[in-house]
Amino acid sequence: MYRSTTQTFTCPCGQEFQDTIYEYVNVAQEPRLRYVVLAGLLNVATCPICGRKAAVGRPFIYSDPDHELLVYVHPRADAPEEARQLILERLRSVYLNIANGQQAEQHVDEGDGGRAVEMTPGQAQEMPPLKVAFGLDQLVELINADLDPEERLGKLAMSTHSRDTAERGQFFAIARKLAVEMECGVEVEDLPDEYTVWLYGPRRRIGSLMRSLAL
Ligand SMILES: [Zn+2]
Repeated sequence: MYRSTTQTFTCPCGQEFQDTIYEYVNVAQEPRLRYVVLAGLLNVATCPICGRKAAVGRPFIYSDPDHELLVYVHPRADAPEEARQLILERLRSVYLNIANGQQAEQHVDEGDGGRAVEMTPGQAQEMPPLKVAFGLDQLVELINADLDPEERLGKLAMSTHSRDTAERGQFFAIARKLAVEMECGVEVEDLPDEYTVWLYGPRRRIGSLMRSLAL
C-alpha cells in the first residue's frame, strides 16, 4: 500500500516527463519500495531522456510493520534547529491524537547521523513508536539496523562501452527485462564512454542473479 501523486517535471535538457512522488509507503505490501529507498531513489525525479536526477524535497511516511518501523522522513538532513523543533512538536500532537496515548514519553538519542527522536504513547496500542529521520541517510540507518544482512541493498552493474544510442537502448531493454524477472529495480548511469545499468534489490536476490549470470 502506498499513497502517491504523479507530478510533471521539466528537465534542464528541455524534456517534460512525469514521475511518481510518494507521501506514504508501506513496504510490507510493496517490498520493492524498501529498495528504492535504500538506493536513494525514492522521490527522486529522473529524466527518461538524459538521466538527470533531481530530489523532490517532500516529506513522507515510511512504514514497515514487520520490523515495527514507522518513520516520518523529513527530506533535509540540514534542517535548521527551529524547523526541527516545530516539526517534532506538530508530529507529536498528530501522533498522540492517532495513538490515543495519554502519557507521552520522549527519548532523544544523539547519534552520529544527527538525531533520532522516538515518541512512545504511554498506553499499549498497535502503532509502533513514531521515529523521525532528517534526510534519507538517517532513514537508511534505521532500516538497516533491523534488517538481516541478506535483506540489505545489493547492487549489480551491467555496462557497455558502446556509444551507439540504439545499442544502448537495446542493452537497457535486456537489463530491464532481467530486472523485472528478478523483481529488482534499475538505475541508469549514462556517461559518454560507458553506459551502465545498475540492478538493485535484496542482496540474496542479487547474489543469485550473479550466480546465474556466471553460468
Ligand atoms: Zn533531461
